[in-house]
Amino acid sequence: MKQLTKLSDCVKCGDCCYYHRKYLGLSTIFDKDRLAKKFIADNGEFLEDKGKFFQARCRRKKSRNYFFCDFKDGNLCSLKEKRPFGCKLYPFNIMKDRKGKISLGIDRDCLGVKNRTEKQIFDYVKYLKPMLRRIIKTRKHCVEEFQPELEIIDYL
Ligand code: SF4
Ligand code: SF4
Repeated sequence: MKQLTKLSDCVKCGDCCYYHRKYLGLSTIFDKDRLAKKFIADNGEFLEDKGKFFQARCRRKKSRNYFFCDFKDGNLCSLKEKRPFGCKLYPFNIMKDRKGKISLGIDRDCLGVKNRTEKQIFDYVKYLKPMLRRIIKTRKHCVEEFQPELEIIDYL
């Protein structure tokens, strides 16, 4: 999957993968039917079984009032290409709007977004839309509730 955000942006920024609440957003889930047994065996201690899917564990850092994903490694993700789809999708998120319509949200505070032009962003949205429409047909649990901090950039 192509990425809008460059790795160099994330290395500089690192403002991801920690949360105010214990459970990460639904976007950071690992679909059980898509996970290799070896991945589960190697990473089982970092995964919480949520029934249809696993979710990355997150723990509160003693010195800070946030919960950090266990896979966070400095400013990056230790899973690299094996990270969940929702993490690859970030700074975008599939979410309902205030009326429940499925939309595509974007985090305008993300450095990777700030460093791209509007044309680059809209071209990327054009690339994403067909893929996301296919995904939400079968993976309804990937649709998050409305998140007011994200801007709705399009509908799916
Ligand atoms: S906020 Fe954006 S630039 Fe910063 S780490 Fe997250 S994806 Fe990367
Ligand atoms: S799995 Fe990786 S990219 Fe996803 S929240 Fe955890 S550290 Fe971040």
